[in-house]
Amino acid sequence: MTFTVEQPRESCRCPACGSDDVLRRGENVRRFRTVPIGRKPAYLILAVPRVECRSCGAVRQVRIGFADPRVSYTRSFKRYALELSRHMTIQDVAMHLGISWDVIKEIQKEDLQRRFGKVKLKHLRQIAIDEISTAKGHRYLTVVLDLESGAVVHVGEGKGGDALKDFWIRLRRSRAKVEAVATDMSLAYIDAVLTYLPGATLVFDRFHVIKLYNDKLSELRRDLYHELKDTMQKKVLKGVRWLLLKRPENLDPSHKEPQRLREALRLNEPLATAYYLKEELNEIWEQDDQEAAEAMLLDWIAYAEVTGIRILHDFAKTLRFHACGILAHYDYPISTGPLEGTNNKIKTMKRQAYGFRDQEFLKLKILAIHETKYALVG
Ligand SMILES: [Zn+2]
Repeated sequence: MTFTVEQPRESCRCPACGSDDVLRRGENVRRFRTVPIGRKPAYLILAVPRVECRSCGAVRQVRIGFADPRVSYTRSFKRYALELSRHMTIQDVAMHLGISWDVIKEIQKEDLQRRFGKVKLKHLRQIAIDEISTAKGHRYLTVVLDLESGAVVHVGEGKGGDALKDFWIRLRRSRAKVEAVATDMSLAYIDAVLTYLPGATLVFDRFHVIKLYNDKLSELRRDLYHELKDTMQKKVLKGVRWLLLKRPENLDPSHKEPQRLREALRLNEPLATAYYLKEELNEIWEQDDQEAAEAMLLDWIAYAEVTGIRILHDFAKTLRFHACGILAHYDYPISTGPLEGTNNKIKTMKRQAYGFRDQEFLKLKILAIHETKYALVG
């Protein structure tokens, strides 16, 4: 459906200075996509007057009331596409409207840029930082989350210190009074927080500490496995690879998981020690107060050091070095846990085949992710 509309001569003004003292200098016939009528696509055709301004001398097309400059769709079409985008993938919206995927993406991108191009940081008090791998080829994004609102406030390319450089600069400029930061125990974050947020409390979250311990536990199992000569024992040890990483309450009795694990631990004393120490390690976060937790942590370290097991010795060293940030949990019970949810949403979003070769678009989508409901599939 095509509607031809006209711009009344007397409403023509200079787009540069707004003067109505203008002379007609021809016209450009343009076609604009607008909201469909029923299932029929609809277009507006307008001969856009060109004017010469007698005040400022500019010669240009007049401004159009119903469309943004340089695009061939109306504002109401844009609003309609954005409304549909809240419930459908870009592909779906493009199909539904019979328009190219790129147009819908550009409409979304412009809208996101307007709303999230400059995220305000001044209100930040408690944040979590973590990296997310976005592709199999080990591409990383570093994401900063506002723990109070749940919104992503920064997406940096790569991982480690460099990914956050402009965030720190913006944060400093915003004069935000950040009190606490949850991260893993990596040196890059520790350095950055000490440098840029010297007043903030660093909190190493439980999830990352346990994950690191699980890595060590796997390493120990592997070492023990390679040392063993007895094939029976080897088989037993091999079969418990995943069971060691599970919480005991999650072991599945119908698959004899508790028995299999018990058998392996009985055969292997170092592994048993390391496994039981994992449970003890978890207790550090379950105490009534910081004092009790500190006693627990020091006990853990002392015990690990005398086991004579190398990985436990190393881990004790790690804990000693990071004790302050681990115990800070009792001042600020925060973690990077909420980022896990964001991470999952990003993965779901990426599976929906958005145009993520455009990194800028991907970042904007992540900044807006707290307002999306990614129950959509396919
Ligand atoms: Zn003018």
